[in-house]
Amino acid sequence: MNVEAVTAMPGREVPLSGWGRTPSGRAALLGPLTLPALRDLIADRPHHGLVARGAGRSYGDAALNTGGLVLSPAQEPWVLLDVRAGRVRVSASVAFTDLLARTVTHGWLPPVLPGTAHLTVGGAVAADVHGKNQHRDGSIAAWLDQVDLVDGTGTLRRLTPAGTPEAFRATVGGMGLTGVIVSATLRLLPVRSARLRVTTRRAADLDGLMDALAGAPTRYAVAWIDGTAHGRSLGRGVVDLADHCPEPDPRHEPGGPRYRPGPAAPAPALPFCPVTPRTAAAFNGLWYHRAPRLRQSTAWLGSYFHRLDAVSGWNRALGPAGIWQYQFVVPDAERELVVCVLEALHRHRASPFLGTLKRFGPADGHPLSFPLAGWSLAVDLPAARAGLGELLDALDRLVATSGGRIYLAKDARMDRARFTEMYGPLDAWREARARLDPHGVFRSDLGLRLGLCD
Ligand SMILES: Cc1cc2nc3c(=O)[nH]c(=O)nc-3n(C[C@H](O)[C@H](O)[C@H](O)COP(=O)(O)OP(=O)(O)OC[C@H]3O[C@@H](n4cnc5c(N)ncnc54)[C@H](O)[C@@H]3O)c2cc1C
Repeated sequence: MNVEAVTAMPGREVPLSGWGRTPSGRAALLGPLTLPALRDLIADRPHHGLVARGAGRSYGDAALNTGGLVLSPAQEPWVLLDVRAGRVRVSASVAFTDLLARTVTHGWLPPVLPGTAHLTVGGAVAADVHGKNQHRDGSIAAWLDQVDLVDGTGTLRRLTPAGTPEAFRATVGGMGLTGVIVSATLRLLPVRSARLRVTTRRAADLDGLMDALAGAPTRYAVAWIDGTAHGRSLGRGVVDLADHCPEPDPRHEPGGPRYRPGPAAPAPALPFCPVTPRTAAAFNGLWYHRAPRLRQSTAWLGSYFHRLDAVSGWNRALGPAGIWQYQFVVPDAERELVVCVLEALHRHRASPFLGTLKRFGPADGHPLSFPLAGWSLAVDLPAARAGLGELLDALDRLVATSGGRIYLAKDARMDRARFTEMYGPLDAWREARARLDPHGVFRSDLGLRLGLCD
């Protein structure tokens, strides 16, 4: 099947952007395709290349291919759950909300849950996503038994960590640039309840916040950080530590565990950005002061893992100029860089309105994966703020010289030189990609910007 035939069917040129709504571009969108149609499309080498797209929850240009093809959803969704073995084989197009709904009733949980449930399995594998348990359980790569990929010649390949280590490591974290992931086989975590025991603790400064995270005895640990606080309050925040309840709660879960995501209120699409240094500080200050000094509670899976999903489309409420999320990680010995970044954001009145701090465990050795042992700070910033680009360029340089890196799934603006400093020349990844995609079919705006494809 040639590209014209495919694009003449469902492919229509549409404007696309990531969750941050900047940058945006136009591409021909098509999908879902049957496996033979997908293989034919790729084998025909579409002129301006192709990239798969999941739910578009990456912030920047990872799932954009301006002027070319974007495949979304790649295929029809399907889930094959092996209840006895605690393993699921799942189409890349399945959203985590649907996966949770299928597995939790049987006492199994996807082992890595990012901060939104509205992402797909394909997007999770391609970005090698991490959750609030990365310090203990690693990122999703550690739980994958197999990834099925249609490579750049149209061949369906079965990738496994032991059987095809180079191709597996290049693809998991490879941001869609080695092929179209059609399915993944994931080991699941046994749970007896859909509720968690949560300890919430307020910390008055960054040292307190980091101590609480570093000493966390629980499977899950995350801190919300007030990115607007300064002086002696710099880095203050609220830590949430959690473990699964060992038994179903007879009052709330008489029929056993069930995934209940809770209602989501729609956010209004605003024609201006309501975030200013003053409103960001007021919002964060209120959040901090309303948090308990210390509280033990129980929470549903959805409200602990996916708090932001309670407001649907919240990115639209931040104005047409969009948002940038700045997420970096630095090794333990460079934790001062977190102070340095918070001070710089304050000095430049950058208005960070949402921030999280996590402590990471070791890297998994995948060339493009983000986590490494140390500290990860993520802050959401209004992209239209004057001088923000220059400030973040300067922070990129500090992160790079500290041996840290920026998360590609959040990035929309880093330059090629800084990226190379952070991730290295990537010889192994480039060799694996050349074998998987010898004609350079897979292409994204992020890949072009960072020199990962041409
Ligand atoms: C509110 C919010 C909270 C978040 N929290 C976290 C977090 O805690 N941890 C974390 O790790 N991330 C987090 N993220 C980022 C998100 O998990 C990743 O960006 C993820 O990749 C999004 O998946 P998606 O299905 O939306 O993929 P998209 O954004 O559509 O695509 C992301 C990448 O995956 C590739 N891709 C998608 N499908 C396929 C496929 N079938 N085959 C090959 N490549 C494919 C795309 O080409 C692209 O490079 C968060 C994002 C938001 C908006």
